[in-house]
Amino acid sequence: MQTNEKHKIVIVGGGAAGLELATYLGHKLGKKGIAEITLIDATTTHVWKPLLHEVAAGTLDESEQVEYMAQAHRSHFQFRLGKMEGLNRAEKAVYVRPTINDQGEELIPSRTFHYDTLVMSVGSVSNTFNIKGVAEHCLFLDTTRQAFKFQKQLFESYLKSYIGKDKATVKPLSIAIVGAGATGVELAAQLHEVTDVLAIYGLKEQSDVKLTIIEAATQLLPALPGKLAIATQQQLVKLGVSLKLGRRVVEVSPSGITTHDGEFIEADIKVWAAGIKAPDWMKNLDGLETNHINQLIVDSTLKTSDDDIFAIGDCAACQWPGHNGNVPPRAQAAHQQATAVGKTIISRLKGGQPVNFVYYDYGSLVSLGKYTTVGNLMGNLMGTVSIGGFIAKVVYLSLYKMHQVAIHGYFRTAMLTLSNAFRRSAYIKIKMH
Ligand SMILES: Cc1cc2nc3c(=O)[nH]c(=O)nc-3n(C[C@H](O)[C@H](O)[C@H](O)COP(=O)(O)OP(=O)(O)OC[C@H]3O[C@@H](n4cnc5c(N)ncnc54)[C@H](O)[C@@H]3O)c2cc1C
Repeated sequence: MQTNEKHKIVIVGGGAAGLELATYLGHKLGKKGIAEITLIDATTTHVWKPLLHEVAAGTLDESEQVEYMAQAHRSHFQFRLGKMEGLNRAEKAVYVRPTINDQGEELIPSRTFHYDTLVMSVGSVSNTFNIKGVAEHCLFLDTTRQAFKFQKQLFESYLKSYIGKDKATVKPLSIAIVGAGATGVELAAQLHEVTDVLAIYGLKEQSDVKLTIIEAATQLLPALPGKLAIATQQQLVKLGVSLKLGRRVVEVSPSGITTHDGEFIEADIKVWAAGIKAPDWMKNLDGLETNHINQLIVDSTLKTSDDDIFAIGDCAACQWPGHNGNVPPRAQAAHQQATAVGKTIISRLKGGQPVNFVYYDYGSLVSLGKYTTVGNLMGNLMGTVSIGGFIAKVVYLSLYKMHQVAIHGYFRTAMLTLSNAFRRSAYIKIKMH
């Protein structure tokens, strides 16, 4: 590396972790000309992933999307559109595949980006566990594109099932969700809320939709205390959601899902939300050490087996001392890791020591849409406290607000929150196209 060149920091993946890091380093280093920060993402806009079930249900306001180009301009980093497909550690080079439009035309050719420091933050995808038919027949909520696809299919299926049909013989639309973790449970509640809204918009008598959650474990929400799982279960049952617990899925077909005990659950729409893995192309990333779900193994400073490559967020496997396993793939972990690695990079540039990452679990919250929010809060002084209702809803929202503050700052976040509140009160509550 020539000494008069700026230090090149390349961040791949602008999600909960990567976009916060790029923004932080842009303000700390990019603005002062100390380093050149490049964020590469496969898409042009960022949506905070925990909002994807709102996208899927059609209830998300489009203004919640962040344009990478605009964010880069405001925050003193550069954004490059493209999907990473390879790495050459000896050359310190990241390979990005050509960008192709829906018509198959090449818009941007393949490119190579050189780095001095590389941060991998490409997130995770759903783990199908190679179960027959899952990849072909299930919908996933891994990306904004998939969530929009879901939303379109939901609305079209609703129209097909109910409009112009005889009320006496109409067959209700059936949706089966595999996985009763927070994603599956939140999606079920959100979909229930949506069908209620569709009914209000003129389909009142024919709004019943059959919602089923299928889960291999005998309890839903395994990460939460049993008491809260039971409260959530009661709420879902009250909403008419059918729960098939202790049932392992063995096959998915176009018309439904078969479980290990031979039961066939008919479903027009099938959603897979049963566990994550890092993308398959990361399995052989020029010899970087990975685990059985393709995550890059990192040490307590979030460094991979290469001294100049870090990994944060869902694609990183970071041991959680005192717990039997790794830091969980959650937005709060991504947020904390972005902060830690940002400090480490700045310290390294000054010749200082890396920062040890310590994960603080502030608890888990599950939002059942407009119905309720439940969860537990963790704190050194109070231990674990179960919360529900309004307080839980406020705390749940605050996780997203923290992400917005990291990206937009306090003033813009306050203005965005205010304008969204007005917008939501004036416009249609769900997207219908
Ligand atoms: C529906 C849903 C609900 C959730 N709800 C919650 C919740 O309530 N609370 C909670 O704590 N967590 C929740 N999570 C988990 C949380 O969203 C993730 O843990 C968090 O987003 C991980 O952040 P990340 O930066 O690692 O990845 P992501 O936020 O997924 O970002 C990854 C980024 O990398 C980009 N990318 C991927 N591949 C490439 C490539 N090859 N080249 C370039 N760019 C690439 C993607 O486009 C994306 O922008 C939820 C997840 C889902 C799917």
